[in-house]
This record gives sequence, C-alpha cells and structure tokens, in this order.
Amino acid sequence: MRPQLFWFTTGLNILENLLRCCSGFGTLSVRVDRTADEQIMEHRYHNVINGQLTEATSGRRFNNINPADTTDLVGSFPASGEAEVNAAVDAAADALPGWRKLPAPRRGEIVFRVGRIMADRKEQIAQLLTREMGKVIAEARGDVQEGIDTAYYAAGEGRRMFGDTVPVEMPNKAGFSIRRPIGVCGMITPWNFPMAIPTWKIFPAIMAGNTVVLKPATDAPATVTQLLEVLAEAGLPEGVVNLVTGSGAAVGDVMVRHPGIGAISFTGSSAVGAEIAATCGQLHKRVSLEMGGKNAQIVMDDADLDLALEGALWGAFGTAGQRCTATSRLIVHKKVLLAFTDRLVERTSRLKLGDGRDESVDVGPLINAAQRETVAGWVDRGRSEGARMLCGGKPAAGNGLDKGHFYEPTLFDCVEPDMSIAQEEIFGPVTAILAVDSLDEAIAVLNGTRYGLSSSIYTRNVNGAFKAMEEIEAGITYVNGPTIGAEVQLPFGGVKATGNGHREASHTVFDFYTEWKSVYVDYSGKLQRAQIDET
Ligand code: NAD
Repeated sequence: MRPQLFWFTTGLNILENLLRCCSGFGTLSVRVDRTADEQIMEHRYHNVINGQLTEATSGRRFNNINPADTTDLVGSFPASGEAEVNAAVDAAADALPGWRKLPAPRRGEIVFRVGRIMADRKEQIAQLLTREMGKVIAEARGDVQEGIDTAYYAAGEGRRMFGDTVPVEMPNKAGFSIRRPIGVCGMITPWNFPMAIPTWKIFPAIMAGNTVVLKPATDAPATVTQLLEVLAEAGLPEGVVNLVTGSGAAVGDVMVRHPGIGAISFTGSSAVGAEIAATCGQLHKRVSLEMGGKNAQIVMDDADLDLALEGALWGAFGTAGQRCTATSRLIVHKKVLLAFTDRLVERTSRLKLGDGRDESVDVGPLINAAQRETVAGWVDRGRSEGARMLCGGKPAAGNGLDKGHFYEPTLFDCVEPDMSIAQEEIFGPVTAILAVDSLDEAIAVLNGTRYGLSSSIYTRNVNGAFKAMEEIEAGITYVNGPTIGAEVQLPFGGVKATGNGHREASHTVFDFYTEWKSVYVDYSGKLQRAQIDET
C-alpha cells in the first residue's frame, strides 16, 4: 500500500474507532457532539489520481450524508471539475502502455489478490456502504460480495479471453482473431450499488488491458475509496485506476466529451443515458448504457403462492425498491388475486424500517430527500389516476425514523396497464398489482412498457415457463425466483429503454472492453486472392 494512502486510512480508522468507542454505539457511526466543520476535517476523502490523493483545484467540496440519519456526516469529497478529469485521463494514458503489455494472466493475479483483500475487508466495507447508502447490512454484504465474485471471475478470464481460430479458404494460410484493449475507459456509476457496479466495470476493463477513470455518484462516493485502497494494496500500478469525485455536469459530462477517453460505461437513469449516448454518437465514442427498469413478476394461478409471496416482498422492497431490477409491478392471475393480495398486504405492513446497520431491519431509507419527494409524487399520481392504495403511501415517522428519508412500503391494486405507476420507474418501495386472465395477457402487460431489464414468472407449468422465457422482452427472466438476484457469470443488461445492446458481467462484457482484430497469416509465399483464386 502506498504510504500516503496507508497513513490517511490508518489515521481515519484509528480516529473513527476512537470516536465509535466514545460514542458507545459499537460499529454504529460517529455520533459524538461535534460541529459540522469538525466532522468534515475528520472525514476528508480525496480523488485518487496516479496513486496520489488530490483535492479539487477549486478547493470546493461536497458532503456525503447518511440517509438513515441526516445528522451523521459520512465525509466530504472534492467537488472536482475539468482540471481533475484532465489529470486523471493523463494519468490513465501514461499507465496504459505498461499495463496493456503486462500479460493478461499476470494482470489476473493482481485482480485475484484484489478479490482476496476485499473478502478480508468485507464487513468493514459493508458497514461503510450501508452508512452512506442506507441499504440493510445483509444487502450491503451482498453488494461487496458481488465485487469479490467479479474479481475472481475476471481474474480467471486472464487465462481465457478467447479469440477464434478458424479454417481459411486457402492452403498455407491461417486465420484467427485477437482482442485488443480500447485504451482509457470512463466509468460513470449510480449510488444504489456503490461497490458492485464500479467493480463490474473496473475489473473486466483492466483485465482486458485498459486503464480507467471512475466517477461515482455524489450520493455514495465513500465505498469506492476503499476499493481504491484495496487496488493499491494488491499491487495495481499507479494510474491504472483513477478516481474523480464530483457532479454529473462538472465531471461526468467532461469525461464523456474528453477526447482521451475511448469508451464510456454508464449506469444510471434512462434520461441521462440518452444524453450521454447522443454525445458519444457525435464523437464516435463507444458507449455502454445500463439504465432504468419497470420490472414485473407474473404470478400464475398454478404458482406456489408462498414462494411467489416471498419473491414479491424481496423483489419489491429489497434496497427499499431502489434497484434497477426492483419488482415494480406484480401481474397476478385473477384466480389467485385475492389470496395473494391479502397475504402480501399483511406481510408488507409488518416490514420493519430503520437504520440498515441494525440486523433486524427489513427496509432502509431512500437515498435523499429529493428521491422521497419523487416517490411521494408517484404515489399521489397513482391515487389520482384511480389506483387503490392498500398500505403505506406516506413518509415513515416515529421511532427515530424522522432523522432519515424513510418511506412506508406501499402497495396499489386496481392498477391499469396504462397508468403512470404501471409505466414509469419509481425507484422506491412502491409496487403496483395488475390483474390478468391468462398467461398471454400477463406477458402482453409485462411487455407493455418502454423498459426491459428484469422479469419473473411463478408457475408450476413447464410449458408456460418456457413460453415466458421466449416471449418476455427483457434482458433477464427468472422462473420461480424474484426479479432481483443476478450472478456475475451470466450477462447482465436490458433491452428497449434499459440498455443499448451491451451486457455487463460474464464473458460477454469483454466484447465491450476490447476491440476485435482479425489476423490472416499467409505462409504460402505467393499472392492468394480470397474469393477469386481457386486452389
Ligand atoms: P443518474 O442518471 O442521475 O446518475 C448516474 C450517474 O450519472 C451519476 O454518477 C451522476 O452524477 C452521473 N451524471 C448525471 N448527469 C450526467 C451527465 N449529464 N453527464 C454525465 N454523467 C452524469 O442515476 P442515479 O439516480 O444515480 O441512479 C438511479 C438510476 O440508475 C435508476 O434509473 C436505475 O434504474 C438506474 N440503474 C440501472 C442499473 C442497470 O444496470 N440497468 C443499475 C443500477 C441503477
């Protein structure tokens, strides 16, 4: 580990442990009486450019607040801009020749070590992740685990990353294809998976021989600073991965337009993704977009209702509904509608809200005040369009919840497919129940939105299940499982307004982070004209 990173983190860890002890909250956050300025001094995070901790040249910073307790300041971060993006791109460009020359199996050894160190620090990282983002601790551990899984998977690809060797038309001639890195890749990530999403992008990118500039979301930039420390400790050369914090306009947009960045990998809203795609189109820049979803779970009349109920609760209210794969619609066969709905309302009303670091909590807060207002707006719209609210429908209060951005898990029924709560991504703990008469109707309703990320069907009918796999317009279909729960060895991504055709995870992600080159070797010693000469 580099000295400055070591002293920075060690100093912080000692200080934080001391403060935690003083506060008497064990692993809970720093809660001693200090002014906001004092807290900022103690939790100053930095950009990491060429392995150095740097400030924004403007000197400006922004704060990262715990969404479960807005009196808890997680830290302050540089509000970076063009100068920092330029410096990070220069660092990544300087690191590129050495890194891409390192054989892929050697790169894999470093990434494998990254996975091992992350596994050792899993709990520490997960605690910070929950504190800055709010998801319950079990899910935060899963978020980190996904990063570890990706590290091991990507490291193994260092000995694969297959090209093709194929027969050719002429004698004494060989044909094969190889992958070449793109160069400097820019990564722009959202706040809802502060570890999993950056690692999905970074690990395959560097395994393929690229170097990276990463901009995390301003609502959750702390977790990824721990990843940068792990990368350094694992021996990743300086400049291969650079971190620049700041807003979408001041940092993200500058990255998208930067001529030194050859590819942009973006995960976030469809609106921002569309803007980025337009810019990249003009610049002939490669771009991968993972965007919004309006995922649905179908419950057929022959489904195991207990199983379907557990799936619906987990899919709709895990991460307080703030997953791109969240179950935002439940499409239920009329024959089981009443039985299913009654039990769902009862179970939903019993979900425990609170600080995600409390292991007994089911549902954490929304990420910020604006997101809670947005969710409240969709709920009002649902009511005004004639849907019936079955439970929830308001900010949660009392029992310490007033300090955070909590919203009660909310269910609507009597929802028609064209209502806005059945069409638009809400990104909160709100689910719409739609009634159908048949599998055909269920699939038509499911397909009837502009999104296409995840989907699920609960049925015991194997024919129906295969029909759904074939006909559902989505990047992912689960049979007898909820809409959430992707694993890293299968492609991840969506169709329609959710994606632009690329996939993350699995070996398919290497198609984004590499350029194919076809190689022909003619060892006949004479001119052989393809498609013309006959042998
Ligand atoms: P967002 O689009 O507001 O922001 C995403 C990132 O883009 C952030 O880092 C932000 O700072 C940056 N950004 C904003 N404006 C920009 C601009 N003009 N140029 C460049 N960068 C810019 O999204 P969010 O609120 O952080 O995340 C929630 C959204 O992400 C939801 O729509 C969710 O469905 C989606 N999401 C999709 C997936 C997926 O894999 N499909 C996964 C997670 C989240």
